Amino acid sequence: MSKVLGYAAQQASTPLAPYNFERREVQPEDVQIQILFCGICHSDLHTARNEWKGTVYPCVPGHEIVGKVLQVGKDVTDFEAGEIVAVGCMVDSCANCASCKENLEQYCENVPVFTYNSKDKFGQITYGGYSNQIIVDHKFVLRVPKEFTEKDYPGVAPLLCAGITTYSPLRHWKIGKGSVVGVVGLGGLGHMAIKLAHAMGAHVVLFTTSAGKAEDAKRLGADEIVISKNANEMKAQANKFDFIMNTVAASHNLDPFILLLKRDGVMCLIGAPATPHPSPSIQLLIFGRKQIAGTLIGGIKETQEMLDFCAQHKITSDIEMISIQDVNTAYERMLKSDVKYRFVIDMASLKG
Ligand SMILES: [Zn+2]
Ligand SMILES: [Zn+2]
Repeated sequence: MSKVLGYAAQQASTPLAPYNFERREVQPEDVQIQILFCGICHSDLHTARNEWKGTVYPCVPGHEIVGKVLQVGKDVTDFEAGEIVAVGCMVDSCANCASCKENLEQYCENVPVFTYNSKDKFGQITYGGYSNQIIVDHKFVLRVPKEFTEKDYPGVAPLLCAGITTYSPLRHWKIGKGSVVGVVGLGGLGHMAIKLAHAMGAHVVLFTTSAGKAEDAKRLGADEIVISKNANEMKAQANKFDFIMNTVAASHNLDPFILLLKRDGVMCLIGAPATPHPSPSIQLLIFGRKQIAGTLIGGIKETQEMLDFCAQHKITSDIEMISIQDVNTAYERMLKSDVKYRFVIDMASLKG
């Protein structure tokens, strides 16, 4: 067993604090990784505080991991010590179901093993990236492309969740040159959606409730900014969109956005609301053959493709680096959307 230091929530109501634990022996197919950086995702907070129920304590969150390979198991030939690698939201899956066979492990019919708060094949609860090392089956380890240099690594970490969550639907719905894409909400997910859709050649429109975000959205790659509270501005966008990526997790009326879709347009929801959205108007969907869809991260193959795409287009997340001792403050600030646009923990700050 290897001794690991991390930060864990011991209960839903207690702040995260240092926690010593053990990880399994390196198995023949495992890669042992020293964690350099870990992004902070909203899911971390929801899970640490048991807001989605089912959290097993102690809970070590973190699934936006960039690190360096320490050692590999005897059957691993695709990674070697010293390489810079990444781990995202999943660390294993059944490999036998229809989804796994199509490289869509995120939809594994037997439920993938998530990077934290999941049960692995040894029956152990998984502990995530708020720690100094992790041991992962090589099939779930991603390669950080060589085009990324050391100074990029902190901004690469959020690509492993926020990046793939927005990349996968853009690819699935074949966004490219000539596509008109709306992005609702400018946070961790929204800022990645703008960068990626822009890099794919789409015309990108940000929908936000705050006019103050306009300048930043343009810098990130948005062609237009629409204040979604302004009925006239919204009306001017009617029937224009091939695709709308709705990143807002708070319960809200979807109809004003359905009106903006072209015939056969799709609005994809990637924010999971704690209380349901009001039912959308079915008439609006029927008249125009419009679709509302959902999507979850991406498979391992596609996650690697996303990292390669980002390296090629020099895309990383805009981040604010913190020490792990500030993780609880970061949670509070994240709840107020007081971050541009992702917190990333510098794991060098974690000392025993
Ligand atoms: Zn996440
Ligand atoms: Zn499966």
